[in-house]
Amino acid sequence: MTDETCSKCGEPAVIHREYEGRALCKEHFSIDINKKIKKTIREGNLVESGDTIAVGLSGGKDSAVMLEQLVEIFGERPDIEIIGVSVHEGIDPYRDESISAAEELCDELGVELKLGKYDDYYDLKMDDVADAGAKGNCTYCGIMRRDLLNKLCREVDADKMAIGHNLDDEAQAIMMNHIKGDMKRMARIGPKKDPSDHEKFTQRIKPLRDVREKEVALYSRIHDLGVIDRCPHVQEGSMRPMVKSFLNKLESEMPGVKNQIVSHGREISDMVEDEIDYKSDENQIQECEKCGEPCSSDICRKCQLLDEIKIAADKSEDHNFSVEE
Ligand SMILES: [Zn+2]
Ligand SMILES: [Zn+2]
Repeated sequence: MTDETCSKCGEPAVIHREYEGRALCKEHFSIDINKKIKKTIREGNLVESGDTIAVGLSGGKDSAVMLEQLVEIFGERPDIEIIGVSVHEGIDPYRDESISAAEELCDELGVELKLGKYDDYYDLKMDDVADAGAKGNCTYCGIMRRDLLNKLCREVDADKMAIGHNLDDEAQAIMMNHIKGDMKRMARIGPKKDPSDHEKFTQRIKPLRDVREKEVALYSRIHDLGVIDRCPHVQEGSMRPMVKSFLNKLESEMPGVKNQIVSHGREISDMVEDEIDYKSDENQIQECEKCGEPCSSDICRKCQLLDEIKIAADKSEDHNFSVEE
């Protein structure tokens, strides 16, 4: 990868960190990643004694690295329980492969895995929904995945759910919130507990949020963790890929700018949080009239989407019928 040697031991380097001006070998890179994650957890007080942590597993590299690291850090602690949770969206064979990878990893690490399928909870598969709705596949799927992961966390009595967001995801989210002017989402950046959260909503933690995407990928290659996680129904053209490539370009000209965006974003987030009135009516969390899940309107977005999908499916059936006539 590079002709350089490790700045700590002189062995061949696997990475040159432009933003730190140093190179690291396999071993020292791995030690550093572990240190970074521990620091994130400690400083944000992400894990406490007595916690059951549900680890959201997609089978992809981010969540696999996260599980391996959490087991490394907390595996010997009798007061902390780690359980894997995975969602099968009904995307074949893509999801079958990544679920098998998640199952294998859990087996290896001695972690229980709780699996939930869209088919069992919502009576549908993403393969059937794909391209059916005006809002786009990822919107439908994301809202259902969030709903189901939260249900699974309650089923395993989790106190917290760990999600595999890395530093790049965090920097992208901050930029997108700026562009959209979304102040409420801005207030949720960073390690703190979302003050608007409902008791039915499991608190989310992001142990990888100070590790760069490229470095998660390198760690996953070195330690053979995770499979390629690329959904066949993904639709390009949303804002995120553009923001992502913009940030990568900026970083190549200004090494370290992603870290700056994230640390400034967290400061702004704290300020915004003080300004939001969580007791006001518009910020009150209630329960969905249909399914009872926490939401900000009478009917939750997931139930609205499920209705839209059903209407779209009924229409296409009617249409087929008239064609046959
Ligand atoms: Zn070294
Ligand atoms: Zn609902």
